[in-house]
Amino acid sequence: MENITELKSILARPRDILITSHRNPDGDAIGSSLGLKLFLEQEGHTVKVVVPSDFPHFLNWMPGASEVLIYDNDPEEIGKLMERMGMVFYLDFNSLERIDKMGEITGPMNVPKVLIDHHLLPEPIADFDLHSTLASSTSELVYDFIKLMGKEDLVTKDVAECLFTGILTDTGSFKYSTSPKLFRMVGDLLAKGVDDVRIQNLVFNSLEEKHLRLLGHVLHNRMEVLPEYRTAIITLTKKDYEEFNISRGDTEGLVNYLLMMKDVVLAAFIHEQPTITKISLRSKGDFSVQEIAKKYFKGGGHRNASGGYSFIGLRATVRKFKEALPEYKEALLNTTI
Ligand code: 5GP
Ligand code: MN
Repeated sequence: MENITELKSILARPRDILITSHRNPDGDAIGSSLGLKLFLEQEGHTVKVVVPSDFPHFLNWMPGASEVLIYDNDPEEIGKLMERMGMVFYLDFNSLERIDKMGEITGPMNVPKVLIDHHLLPEPIADFDLHSTLASSTSELVYDFIKLMGKEDLVTKDVAECLFTGILTDTGSFKYSTSPKLFRMVGDLLAKGVDDVRIQNLVFNSLEEKHLRLLGHVLHNRMEVLPEYRTAIITLTKKDYEEFNISRGDTEGLVNYLLMMKDVVLAAFIHEQPTITKISLRSKGDFSVQEIAKKYFKGGGHRNASGGYSFIGLRATVRKFKEALPEYKEALLNTTI
């Protein structure tokens, strides 16, 4: 980060700070936001975390989770509150589109803005950027940020638990985006008192019966494998959502099951939301899903995990995805795992 000295002087006196993260927040969005909040509060700042929509139930246990404000639940009041803040942190996204209406509020605000993120192709939306696509997660970068501020001693057990959770979920339990630096950092977090096994249980072994029934249903009835493209697809209709009494957060992770097949390089999860059709893409090896998400589905993300959406309904979205595949056939067939 350039001009760190300037940022340090801005943070030298107590401020009202808004931390925002992206729609459908995941473990890294919430983990990095709460970790940063708990750090900044120790420095005397007043901090509000606001996200556009609700987060998955398996994050409810996190320190500070009950104080996260969901913009959709009360746009008017929360909008007013946001406008009163004296500083903004954008975490785990890099285009204002990712926070919808909230972007229209924070965009024009004439206050210092800081972006901490690891997604490809950042847009110039902040005065200070801590950005690296090499980082496993925004939580990793928040730890870097705290170190840059020279305040590592303020990484309490609670801060460490939040950051650990973000790293854990964004690396799929240390299966991807790892590095020697990351493992050293995780060692530091454990030394701060994080119980890694407890957190693994809270995050990954906390499903309800309906979630496993849904998993059985999608793998049995809603999975299509296209061996000629080393691709597999799962679809979910609005009716499935109703029948299994599930909401958006309940489908987190479904797409990853497709990658468990040895010959599958590209996985897609396409599902109907109230107004849009959402697509989640995952890949193995050096095959990048970022371009497909951007070019065909107005989205983006990382090399091995991207997402996007369309307004053309489920069947047409599936068709559009399949029609894009020939363009990537050679790359898919040449991918080494
Ligand atoms: P997921 O498939 O879990 O929703 O998202 C996977 C990755 O793709 C995340 O890093 C997320 O930020 C990115 N992503 C998901 N949906 C969108 C989208 O609509 N637009 C953009 N730009 N990125 C997305
Ligand atoms: Mn992330």
